[in-house]
Amino acid sequence: MFDSSSEKIRINCTQCGAPITFPEGDHSVKCPYCSKVLLLISPQRVLKYYLNTELDERSIKFVTEGACKRLRVPLPTQFYDPKLYYLPYWRFRGAHYSLLIDNDRYEFEDGTILETEPKVNVISKPFDLNFPGTNIETFRNIFMGIRSRTLELCPTMPEHLEGVAKIIQPDILMDTAREMAYERTGGIRNQERAFYNELIGEVLTLVYMPIWVSPFINKEGMFHLVIDGLAKKELSLNKGEWRGIAETDGFDSIASQKIVPHHCPECGADLPAGGSAITFHCGNCGRGWHLQQNGLAQKEFLFAKHEGFDDVSYYPFWQFETTFAHGAELLTYQSAMAIIGSSLSVFIDDSSDEIFKFYIPGFKITNPHSAWKFAADLTRCQPDLEYRDSMNVKTAPCSLEEEEAGEFARAVWYYLLSCSSKARFRDFGDVNSVPDVYFRPGKIVYLPMKEDGIFLREQISGSGIQKKGVPG
Ligand SMILES: [Zn+2]
Ligand SMILES: [Zn+2]
Repeated sequence: MFDSSSEKIRINCTQCGAPITFPEGDHSVKCPYCSKVLLLISPQRVLKYYLNTELDERSIKFVTEGACKRLRVPLPTQFYDPKLYYLPYWRFRGAHYSLLIDNDRYEFEDGTILETEPKVNVISKPFDLNFPGTNIETFRNIFMGIRSRTLELCPTMPEHLEGVAKIIQPDILMDTAREMAYERTGGIRNQERAFYNELIGEVLTLVYMPIWVSPFINKEGMFHLVIDGLAKKELSLNKGEWRGIAETDGFDSIASQKIVPHHCPECGADLPAGGSAITFHCGNCGRGWHLQQNGLAQKEFLFAKHEGFDDVSYYPFWQFETTFAHGAELLTYQSAMAIIGSSLSVFIDDSSDEIFKFYIPGFKITNPHSAWKFAADLTRCQPDLEYRDSMNVKTAPCSLEEEEAGEFARAVWYYLLSCSSKARFRDFGDVNSVPDVYFRPGKIVYLPMKEDGIFLREQISGSGIQKKGVPG
């Protein structure tokens, strides 16, 4: 739902070979040179990237001489072949959400204290953690400062480095890395006074960083310079011969991302390049496609019927039906009323035994707080939907993964719960006493939205969100 990355992905067009860069988090792109539309498929939730290095033998000599001058070491009299190593580091990012109940307190001069009606607040904090994937002595501390750079991430090893680079596999394995990451987020995890905490949209990435080692001799003997292949700067100068890196029992079970032509698997027509979109509507045969780990899977897109003017745009929402345990009975309006009654819209007919549905916006919203309110508002209203023919409607792209949408839906459930029983629902203990929810596979529902002053308003429920928070 949110945009946080400034990193770029760098690939080569599979048709014309031209280098193409686009923002990390985008899944499809149109080659600016030959107009081929390409799709990036991630077979796993864990991503893997290589960073490029522009150094070569010649420029490494130059860097080595420069370093010797700066460090006041006699200049090299003989160079040996430089060695390139790809060193692994893990990157873990996402956002941490907490819900807490606040009431404002006013203290008057005479000592009287006035407390306002409690209200539910949502706090969201993005996190971005890096840590080395290996403990090799020589390379300690090289991972410092990676965060401050804008990186170009290559899903496959840059062609000119194949056969040149030696890849050091991580000896801190995926599961350990994940545990370490969760541990490190511990500090932000337990927001004081929060009654609900959740990490949403966590992505673990393995990044290979290029490190050159330049061995040389000067009049004092043998040395080797360790060079950051990205910043083209020395990291450390060490006396003695370079002995290489012993093979470790690392692993490499993370599949690389794949770049494939982006067309309708059914009719073959090109699909639109949609940046971060994960759903695509074929303009030729009308089928809907959903990007999953193994590629595009057909998905029914539902378009809500809307009486009135046609100057609306359709925006995607994940719609979830809910149970209290896997395979248990579905949550209905009536049972929802019994549990979270006062936080639901008064307009719902409470005699209805219809299925209660959660609605999570799938399009980009820049302000997490208003995204929450919007999802909660819409879910509260339980819009009564009928569906229409899907052809010829303008649609906004859906960029929120189903799994992430489900995490949001669960938090919306707690949000609604807390809104209805404010007085006694104050900490984690209270939360444990309410039923947890499970979601059935989500549906993608497009709802009509229209500008209304500073708002973009959903036309069936009337729920609005500030227009400036919805990019594009
Ligand atoms: Zn091209
Ligand atoms: Zn098609």
